[in-house]
Amino acid sequence: MKINVLTLFPEMFQTFVDTSILGRAVEKGLLEFHIVNIRDFSENKHKKVDDYPFGGGQGMLMMAQPIFSALESLGIDREKGIVYMSPRGEKLNQEKAYKLSMKEEITILCGHYEGIDERVLDYWHAEEISIGDYVLTGGELPAMVLMDTVARLVKDVLPKVESAHDESIYSGLLEEPQYTKPREFKEMEVPEVLLNGNHKLIELWKYENSLELTAKKRPDLFEIYLKEHGELTKDKIKILKEVEKKYKKV
Ligand code: SAH
Repeated sequence: MKINVLTLFPEMFQTFVDTSILGRAVEKGLLEFHIVNIRDFSENKHKKVDDYPFGGGQGMLMMAQPIFSALESLGIDREKGIVYMSPRGEKLNQEKAYKLSMKEEITILCGHYEGIDERVLDYWHAEEISIGDYVLTGGELPAMVLMDTVARLVKDVLPKVESAHDESIYSGLLEEPQYTKPREFKEMEVPEVLLNGNHKLIELWKYENSLELTAKKRPDLFEIYLKEHGELTKDKIKILKEVEKKYKKV
C-alpha cells in the first residue's frame, strides 16, 4: 500500500516511518510512504504558503496553490478523494481505518496554522477525519495516528494475521490483562491459570477477563457486544450471562 502525505513539516515523519513495525514493513515492500513538502510547490518567490483569511478572523490560512500543485504532482485521480486531517471531521475509529487499509493508495493532507483554503477540500473531494475532540497545532500528529492505525491492518505488516483481530475494539471487546516473565515480580504473581498449559481453561479465562474489563470500562461496547456477538460455545455463553448479571444496571 502506498501512503502519500502532504505537509509543511516533512521532517516530523522521518523517524516515524523508519522505526519498528512500519520501518520493517517498508523494507519488505509492504508499505511505501511518500512524504511531500508542500512548500516546494509554492510559486511565490519567497516560498510563501499562507496568508490572511478573507473576511477577517484569527491567524493564517494555508493557500490553495501550493497544495494544488503538490497534489497534481502525485498524478492521483481526484475522483478517488483525499483525506484531510481536521477537527471538523468524523472521528477516526477501527472501522474507518479498516476501510482505508483496503485501498492501494491513500493521500493524507496535513493542515497547519488556522487550516487551509476550503477550495482545496471541495475540488479534491476531501474526506475530513478527526482524531478526537481537541485541537492540535497541525495535522502531522493526527496523520501519523491515522497512518499507524491503517498500516498495521495491511496484510503481513503484523507478524500474524490474527494479531490485529484479537485486539481491543476489533473483536468488540477490550483485551484481557497480559503478563510476561518473570512469574513473580515485587510479590505480585501471574494468574495461575496462564501457567498451567490448559488451553481450554486459558481461553475461557481470557474471555471472562475481557468481558469484565469491557463491562467495567466501556459499558457502551459491552451493550453492543451483548446484541451482536457471533456464535459462542456453551461455556462462553455461561460466562457471558454471569458477567452480564454482575454488571447489569439496577
Ligand atoms: N481552525 C481550525 C483548526 C486548525 S488546527 C478549526 O477550527 O477547525 C490546525 C490543523 O491541525 C488543522 O488544519 C488540522 O489539519 C490539524 N488538526 C487539529 N486538530 C485536529 C484533530 N483533532 N484531528 C485531526 N486534525 C487536527
